[in-house]
Amino acid sequence: MKLLLLLTALVAGVLSKKTFIGEQVLRIKANSNEQLSLLQDLQSFTHLQLDFWTEPAKSDIPVDIRVPFTSLQFVKAYLEYNNFDYSIMIENLQQVINTEKEELESNERKERNSGSFDFGAYHTLDTINYAIDLIIADYSSIVSKQQIGNSYEGRPLNVLKFSTGANHPGVWIDAGIHSREWVTQATALWTARKLASDYGKDASITSLLDNYDVFLMVVTNPDGYVYTHTTNRMWRKTRSINKGSACEGADPNRNWDAGFGGPGADSNPCSETYHGSSAESEVEVKSIANFIRSHGKIKGFITIHSYSQFLLFPYGYKRTLPADYAELNKVGNAAASALTSLYGTQYKVGTIVSTIYQASGGSIDWSYDIGIKYSFAFELRDQRRYGFLLPASQILPTAQETYLALKKILEHIRDNPY
Ligand SMILES: [Zn+2]
Repeated sequence: MKLLLLLTALVAGVLSKKTFIGEQVLRIKANSNEQLSLLQDLQSFTHLQLDFWTEPAKSDIPVDIRVPFTSLQFVKAYLEYNNFDYSIMIENLQQVINTEKEELESNERKERNSGSFDFGAYHTLDTINYAIDLIIADYSSIVSKQQIGNSYEGRPLNVLKFSTGANHPGVWIDAGIHSREWVTQATALWTARKLASDYGKDASITSLLDNYDVFLMVVTNPDGYVYTHTTNRMWRKTRSINKGSACEGADPNRNWDAGFGGPGADSNPCSETYHGSSAESEVEVKSIANFIRSHGKIKGFITIHSYSQFLLFPYGYKRTLPADYAELNKVGNAAASALTSLYGTQYKVGTIVSTIYQASGGSIDWSYDIGIKYSFAFELRDQRRYGFLLPASQILPTAQETYLALKKILEHIRDNPY
């Protein structure tokens, strides 16, 4: 009986695991508004099951689309018929995913055997949690862990708190709200240790933490993150069940109470940008919003996504410029220059709506509208080669350069109290 159960579980596991055999990622350049609208048409053909890694919104940003094997012939014919300029960005998606998984597993085995931890590697949620506890143990005088809720599937929503005293104003930083953006959780984890170890050594971080608390959420969407390891590497959303639909999850960055349900969010639960049944319907979003509202003195809100190399600020849901546009633009550009100074990585800086596309229900629009002036969103590496499957060899350079930008923003917040 036990064996039968085990076999059934194994078969179900194999069947439910998403494979990407024969799938490719195409990179398309739209050379006119007409071509852009042809790509938007393509996006509306839901039966093709295309996964738009970047949106067809502006002609200067290439559109990357993950195409299932069964749709590949049609999509290529469509592109050729309409004279698109396109290339194959990832030729064999399954192979890239397999290699990434093999590397992760062999590294975690090595770490277990040697009792070490490699910040330049990708990890499962359990290993990340283990590393977080090590950081807390090593720097217990300034770092602690605070649980702000439970995920839909019951995992603790933990936030790291960096603090040197009571009653300081705070800065919020989160990563991985979109679970497949693996370089973001890895960057946040490295940043956690760096912030802790820089206190008392780096004058800038020391003076920051003498006056401000930093709250850092390394894995903001833990259910989705686990799912990217167990079942579908390309999972972006939460894992909540949608009543009346076979499709799961909502886009936690369309679920905030800022222009909720407007342009750039989808009402179809099967869409990657499904906004959820109502604002804050996703417990991961609601838990953060509640924490920030009850804290009452959060002065900066920074969310970390990938990919495309952008540093963005409000608004996304409307075309109106924020009242603090000039200041945010200046801080954003200074932060991006600091980032570029390390390895030459180029970033574009601007409002969400002017830089990428109109998107509603996003977290930094919500934080800005409730009075958190310094609200920024990062889109980390890369720009043209790997997308969400950024090789682990780029984690440390990404984290190091991003830290310089974060520091610039944090210094500005420190020096401009409001
Ligand atoms: Zn994202």
